[in-house]
Amino acid sequence: SAQPVTIALSGAGGQIGYAALFRIAAGEICGPDTPVNLRLLEIPQGVGAAEGTALELADCAFPLLNSITIDTDPAVVFEGANLALLVGARPRTAGMERSDLLSANGGIFGPQGRALNDHAADDIRVVVVGNPANTNALIAQRNAPDIPTNRFTALTRLDHNRAVGLLAERSGASVSDISGVTVWGNHSLTQYPDLSHAIVNGVPALDAVDPAWARGEYIERVAKRGGEVIQVRGSSSAASAANAAIDHMHDWINGTGADWTSVSLPSDGSYGVPNGLISSFPVRSTGGSWTIVQGLTVDVFSRERIDASVTELLEEHDAVASLGLL
Ligand code: NDP
Repeated sequence: SAQPVTIALSGAGGQIGYAALFRIAAGEICGPDTPVNLRLLEIPQGVGAAEGTALELADCAFPLLNSITIDTDPAVVFEGANLALLVGARPRTAGMERSDLLSANGGIFGPQGRALNDHAADDIRVVVVGNPANTNALIAQRNAPDIPTNRFTALTRLDHNRAVGLLAERSGASVSDISGVTVWGNHSLTQYPDLSHAIVNGVPALDAVDPAWARGEYIERVAKRGGEVIQVRGSSSAASAANAAIDHMHDWINGTGADWTSVSLPSDGSYGVPNGLISSFPVRSTGGSWTIVQGLTVDVFSRERIDASVTELLEEHDAVASLGLL
């Protein structure tokens, strides 16, 4: 079998961690030939839950699971890490100002960026799931000057998968007959799920469904899907978020094939998104790195939606910059 891969996950005692770890230990990121070393990061209050999960992981007797380490020190957890899924974050609580939220997360993602910089393997790849994910990823990236910037990403794959799932439901097509969906911008309510280049059963999506729906209700439904899940289920989405994080890492390593997906990554200026801002784009993965799909036409409606979400990202950037977190 291949060399083991060392996979670090923060927030390992939380809901998303619980939904992700068993699948990761089963080999769903790197495949059935690659043994996995799991490195679990938690804050002191989360260690017990992470330890309990580790007991259950042992009880699964996964053939690929080589080792499990649990620690509260990012320097220990990220030592030699090839992949990092940064799930643990400070949630917004009632009465919390946005600047408090950003600075609390700066206190998490700044030190984690520095620890990745000093301890991770040379091929480290990072996906941030914990919210505000794009800006948390930016903070980590800016605190890791020795790691190539394009190794830092934030998760918009859940938004992408929601966009595909809801289009399938509306059009009656199966998910495998849909391609060319893009989520642009921030992982937030301003995100723009864009069907202008999507194809359903060989037909442009905007001919297959009502374009007014696609540019109205649909966008809002995708963006607010997390709230819908909370309302119906009584707690926030966890398995679908874990699934998306696994899809993201799987495709980064193994490639996307013909269709593209959506990933938040540092902009190279494509589509007018300011350089360095971590924003969601249509991307393909080949040879282990993401490339932004070029040359898509952006009409007036799409331009406005992309710009609105990028403006929000710039505001978050300016807020964390003025807090000295970058
Ligand atoms: P979850 O595992 O449910 O969520 C973790 C993070 O993922 C939150 O920031 C959440 O954002 C975010 N998230 C992103 N997309 C989604 C989505 N679609 N649905 C739900 N969440 C999403 O949280 P828990 O509270 O169960 O667990 C968090 C764990 O992290 C705790 O065990 C805590 O101790 C730990 N933690 C670890 C840290 C570390 O390792 N240094 C630092 C801070 C916390 P949102 O809140 O906006 O839903």
